[in-house]
Amino acid sequence: MSAVEWGYNESNGPSTWVKNFPTAAGSRQSPVDIVTSLATSDTSLTSKPLNWKYVPENTREIINTGHGWRVDVKGEGSELIGGPLEDSYRLQQFHCHWGFQSDKGSEHTVDGQPFAGELHLVHWNKNKYANCGEAAAFADGLAVLGVLLKVGKENPELQKIVEHIPSIYHRGQKTAIKEPIDPAKLLPGTFSYWTYLGSLTTPPCSESVTWILFKEPIEVSEEQLSAFRSLRCYKPEEACPCDELEGLVINNYRPPLPLGNRELRECGSV
Ligand SMILES: [Zn+2]
Repeated sequence: MSAVEWGYNESNGPSTWVKNFPTAAGSRQSPVDIVTSLATSDTSLTSKPLNWKYVPENTREIINTGHGWRVDVKGEGSELIGGPLEDSYRLQQFHCHWGFQSDKGSEHTVDGQPFAGELHLVHWNKNKYANCGEAAAFADGLAVLGVLLKVGKENPELQKIVEHIPSIYHRGQKTAIKEPIDPAKLLPGTFSYWTYLGSLTTPPCSESVTWILFKEPIEVSEEQLSAFRSLRCYKPEEACPCDELEGLVINNYRPPLPLGNRELRECGSV
């Protein structure tokens, strides 16, 4: 398996990643199961509210990475500060994880319970580092906002992404975002969250992420999840890998890993 061939099927899935990406066996890995009774409330989180600013016009392009869709963002003007963060972080991209069916698909679970999917808004520390790639090598380099998805009504902001899916069925395909997507509109209505120190949930699984997982899920329709499941994990010129996923991007989530002796903190209650 080469570095680019990791995936989510039986032969290249999460349990195999450690062979090529030793960090995946580390003690600061993500996702985790959020055991809600273990979370400690911390007044330092409430005294310094989490705050974000995004520029919808700066969502540029959507790409099929072979592991899902990813919207790349021109970070200028965006900012994530406060809460557990000491520095100011800039938005780089956002992407999503989902299941084969809607009874699972999230990476983080809450008291053992999976959700239908999970959105990740990836930010990097612009006070200390030059770009996202550099920041990913440092313990305080990245901050990811996690949003749990549950099945319900159609999400208008995610619908703008669904409309681009037919242009990016295959791995490597990308297309310009037609109507600006406002990342702030992908966040839930209440801003209570759990936070802990973790990692990227995809190779190289760098232990550089301050995770901020919102307690309240957002709703997404079954049809929207079905559209995500129609993405292919192979290039247009390649043959379908004919694995148990039939070449589709489904179950693109990593199962939870031990929290170990890391602290789980919370801010607010839903
Ligand atoms: Zn992710």
